[in-house]
Amino acid sequence: MNLHEYQAKALFSSYDIPVPAGRVADTPEAAAEAAGALGSGPWVVKAQAHTGGRGKAGGVVLAKTPEAVAEAARSLLGKRLITRQTGPAGLPVGKVLVESASDIQREFYLGGLLDRARSRITFMASAEGGMDIEEVAARAPERILTTVVDPAAGLQPYQARYLGFGIGLRGAALKQFGTILRGLYRLYTEKDLSLVEINPLILTGADELVALDAKINLDDNALWRHPDLEALRDPSQEDTREAQARRFDLNYIALDGDIGCMVNGAGLAMATMDLVKLEGGAPANFLDVGGGTTAERVTEAFKLILSDEKVKVVWVNIFGGIVRCDLIAEGILAAARSIEIGVPVVVRLQGTRAEVGLRMLAESGLDFITEEDFAQAARRAVAIAREGRT
Ligand code: GDP
Ligand code: MN
Repeated sequence: MNLHEYQAKALFSSYDIPVPAGRVADTPEAAAEAAGALGSGPWVVKAQAHTGGRGKAGGVVLAKTPEAVAEAARSLLGKRLITRQTGPAGLPVGKVLVESASDIQREFYLGGLLDRARSRITFMASAEGGMDIEEVAARAPERILTTVVDPAAGLQPYQARYLGFGIGLRGAALKQFGTILRGLYRLYTEKDLSLVEINPLILTGADELVALDAKINLDDNALWRHPDLEALRDPSQEDTREAQARRFDLNYIALDGDIGCMVNGAGLAMATMDLVKLEGGAPANFLDVGGGTTAERVTEAFKLILSDEKVKVVWVNIFGGIVRCDLIAEGILAAARSIEIGVPVVVRLQGTRAEVGLRMLAESGLDFITEEDFAQAARRAVAIAREGRT
């Protein structure tokens, strides 16, 4: 789960990480009022949407008067912001963050993430802040400094000195960098983050470090420990199908292809997508309906897959170990009764009560394409996606 910048900055504040003075607003009038409350200008009006690259996309506006703040808010609120991270549909802007503008002397990058190969939290810093860090990593990887935290020892002072000194900080600013990194590490571990980024971390004209931007990703698997953070969820920023899946406890991830996949078990789902790819096709989604699945959840899963208009064919690939294939068939038939399945459906059922399930589908009078063999089913689904039902 992602947080908005204003939510992330509130967390930063409570962990001794300095942020600009700011207020969030959802109308132009409230934005102008926020500017007044912050003191004299200039101000920066920032679109709140779960994306980076807002600056280049016109989502960050400098304003010199409260009227200009209101004007900027009016131009952003209620619109969709399209950045190079959002795709062409963009994301809706329901709130803006109004901040006292900072005087920027230098821009740095500071980020923390879980290095999965090492199973350790790793911090990265670069003097090339304010720009796309992936671009820096590709062009000049030596400009990104990395330090790996030993979970038993915790973050060590030498690690903060290594990063801070390495990006060119000295004296009081270097000391302040240590405070910020300690705060970030504490925030990361206490709130179960999976990513934190400050880009840019700036040095102001008064030689003070300030987090000008804030990005936080929370680890979904640990969200149950943080109901206060879960409450910060903004559904308007999330894929509606993924949100729907969460309600029914389905493991669904939207992808770019045209073959809708309904599979039980994450391993089989991965293998299914691999085979689709191997045959030259592209999955429209990852969907694991789970082990102890019911007819109702299969129906919901079917609706979910078909709500994606890219889908040209659905491939149901179920191995009945714990789950009974006749219940899966029942779910498919229930789905066929409640919604119109306008695309061909390839069904592969194997395992517990597979014959019963297949017979139910065959006797339904509906046009299912059944395949027993895994690879053959993949070939069939890919061929249909490419050429239509033949
Ligand atoms: P992003 O483009 O979505 O990553 O949004 P950022 O919060 O990083 O803002 C983009 C850019 O706007 C920053 O890199 C700065 O160059 C500029 N910017 C943002 N806030 C201020 C500010 O208070 N003062 C000045 N001078 N520039 C700012
Ligand atoms: Mn940024």
